[in-house]
Amino acid sequence: MNKTTHFDDAVNLIKRAKHMVAFTGAGISVESGIPPFRGRGGLWNSYDPALLELDEFKNKPKDSWKLLKKLFYTHFGTAKPNGAHYALADLEENGFVKAVITQNIDNLHQLAGSKNVIDFHGNISRMVCLACKHFFARSDYSLNDLPLKCKECGGLIKPDVTFFGEAVPEPANTLANRQAEMSDVFLIIGSTGEVYPAALLPETAKETGAKIIEVNTSETQFTNKITDIFLKGKATEIMGELVSSLLAGSKNWERYFLR
Ligand code: NAD
Repeated sequence: MNKTTHFDDAVNLIKRAKHMVAFTGAGISVESGIPPFRGRGGLWNSYDPALLELDEFKNKPKDSWKLLKKLFYTHFGTAKPNGAHYALADLEENGFVKAVITQNIDNLHQLAGSKNVIDFHGNISRMVCLACKHFFARSDYSLNDLPLKCKECGGLIKPDVTFFGEAVPEPANTLANRQAEMSDVFLIIGSTGEVYPAALLPETAKETGAKIIEVNTSETQFTNKITDIFLKGKATEIMGELVSSLLAGSKNWERYFLR
């Protein structure tokens, strides 16, 4: 089957869908200047993955915070949404997307205007106290005096991001599984499928009857196992083309045709 046929099939599937859910990984933010973890140019080539281990963070909070400040708040924190983030927000506004489940922590879906976002691994725009579990907005703290201490109890503050050794937060886990089960089309964008339990969500969607559309620059763990339509290419290009076809004539369509 050629690329155009695949693309047209995807458009038709989305048009007929009653409950499409998007599932995003690091790949959707690559064109915003945030590299993925793995592969060429991946963050694990420059940073030690131990940085995101809970025990390491508790044992060496000052060192960990210095690196987290650089990675999360200087690098990720200054990135802007790209066309693929905006495409999902526009598809939600026009009723095509019911929810976005993201493994990303960069807050770019929210900045693009997506409303129903499930942060499966947390979000750097929030902080949490490990002692009293009080949540704070990122803006409640300056990052000058590290490690951060809780304004309520003096406990150690951590970005509200799931570290290795931590469970996926609730209610995100329950909500994400419910959305996967409810979906009739599940749109995966830029995820290797190597991070668990997140990688089980597309499988749940498939088992409960959803068609799987996948957007990625290369094949992944999902492609030959559960994917029905694989759209090979960069997230901004494929999502721009999809949204141009789906939203032609609607409020935001010009920005995709005129890009
Ligand atoms: P990953 O790093 O394992 O893989 C990224 C995937 O994106 C790969 O399959 C790659 O082929 C694809 N990709 C790269 N550029 C692309 C593009 N322009 N368009 C489309 N696809 C592209 O990512 P993962 O599976 O999401 O798992 C890593 C974990 O680390 C996740 O929890 C993820 O959220 C987290 N992480 C988050 C960020 C972020 O918040 N932006 C960045 C790095 C890692």
